Amino acid sequence: MPFDTYDTDEMHDPGSASPQCPRPWVSILFECCNVYARVYRRPDQMFYRGRCPRCLRVVQLRVGPDGIPARFFRAY
Ligand SMILES: [Zn+2]
Repeated sequence: MPFDTYDTDEMHDPGSASPQCPRPWVSILFECCNVYARVYRRPDQMFYRGRCPRCLRVVQLRVGPDGIPARFFRAY
């Protein structure tokens, strides 16, 4: 008698792209100006890239093979 069990990725993978959120994003605290900003990632890119809204400093954030577990980061 077969077991009717299987893993559902959406249950334990909130950081990855979901159908409702095709463009994943993270919040970054830009320490240079002490402001928060959202940084978006294109689905075909393996890194987030954004700018500080005040001084326009570019910040880049790599994504690991399993995605990023956290949603908030600091840019020093
Ligand atoms: Zn700044």
